[in-house]
Amino acid sequence: MTRDIEHMTTDTNLQLFDRARAVIPGGVNSPVRAFRAVGGTPRFIARAQGPYMWDAAGQRYIDYIGSWGPMILGHGHPAVVEAVQRAVAEGFSFGAPTEREIELAEAILALMPSMEMVRLVSSGTEAAMSALRLARGATGRRHIVKFEGCYHGHADALLVKAGSGLATFGNPTSAGVPAEVVQHTLVLEYNNIAQLEEAFALHGHDIACVMIEAIAGNMNFVRATPEFARRCRELCTQHGALLVFDEVMTGFRVGLHGAQGVLGITPDLTVLGKVIGGGMPLAAFGGPRAIMEQLAPLGPVYQAGTLSGNPVATACGLATLKEVARPGFYETLSAKTRALAEGLRHAAADAGVHFSADCEGGMFGFFLLPELPQNYGKVMTSDGAKFNALFHGLLDRGVYIAPALYEAGFVSAAHAAEDISATIEAAREVFKTLG
Ligand code: PLP
Repeated sequence: MTRDIEHMTTDTNLQLFDRARAVIPGGVNSPVRAFRAVGGTPRFIARAQGPYMWDAAGQRYIDYIGSWGPMILGHGHPAVVEAVQRAVAEGFSFGAPTEREIELAEAILALMPSMEMVRLVSSGTEAAMSALRLARGATGRRHIVKFEGCYHGHADALLVKAGSGLATFGNPTSAGVPAEVVQHTLVLEYNNIAQLEEAFALHGHDIACVMIEAIAGNMNFVRATPEFARRCRELCTQHGALLVFDEVMTGFRVGLHGAQGVLGITPDLTVLGKVIGGGMPLAAFGGPRAIMEQLAPLGPVYQAGTLSGNPVATACGLATLKEVARPGFYETLSAKTRALAEGLRHAAADAGVHFSADCEGGMFGFFLLPELPQNYGKVMTSDGAKFNALFHGLLDRGVYIAPALYEAGFVSAAHAAEDISATIEAAREVFKTLG
């Protein structure tokens, strides 16, 4: 970017940021957008098409955030735009059932064999929170297990960090969450089998569920090892607890059958979001009929939503799922993502920068660490200052990656080989300055 454009971009975005900060806390409607971790001025996006976004000053970026996962086809895919426009013309919201909800439910169930029934909601937070209530309602138990570094939305019981030992439960990570609300949430280290076994030995009789991102995308990109995932399944089965896969990020992103397909593990409940709405507010949770029929209006577990199964959102989701289900979709997407990860790895090695990367389907993570980390503690040993320099170096060169080192990245079907190679070349320049 030339200096003139750089200044114009910063000035225009800064003016908008100032205006936003006057009326919206921190100037944003979701904290990570504020660039607090990396510093600098957030870009206010005016429009997007294919793999690109343009900010309010007209600067173009190759987009590796994809609205934090949903935009797997890229922005403005013609079939999706057409489906949404048609739906909008028919009406925005009815508060009564529609055929399209059935179609989306059928499409999801056809692709996710672990699910026999599904309930549609409007956000991943809502879906995870409802799955948790259902797990407790269905088992009649109180405790839940989650893992450090996994994010399941901002429901009170899930905003929690590890306590001082396995006998003690978690501590809230947000003001406004009383300690009593998280007193039944056990927070364990990801990929730590011994700790999981100990937790079940101590509390197994009262554990309602284990909730996990089986390929975690909220501590950058960290896979559950096959042994760890298998042990989660075995211990849940053995102790009568439900295994809940939070696939809000990985569902239809790492492959057509989610992380459960990649790992070959069948969870009891699955939480979905992001891609199933194609960029509209839509999420879901589902599982076996006997568990799902515990939900209102059939059963005693209450759950509801004014905009649940919204007709425009379901049109967007259906059109998106139709595209990703085409033969070869994930093979092509995976090849692009791998090319990016490989290219970045070589560019970093040439510059002598410690670097590791991993990817699955259209999701990737990279670390300024010599080896891939296996848990949150290791992820956070990454060099924050170097990451920030890399982030801003790329942004200045028109490449938009997530503005925090603990976030994963996303490649879409719209990214072309030239976009990937331009990204690698931009990174090569920046790596040279990191040394
Ligand atoms: N679960 C996971 C794995 C997520 O990545 C997210 C959001 O990033 C959520 C739940 C919450 O979803 P939402 O932001 O739609 O509430």
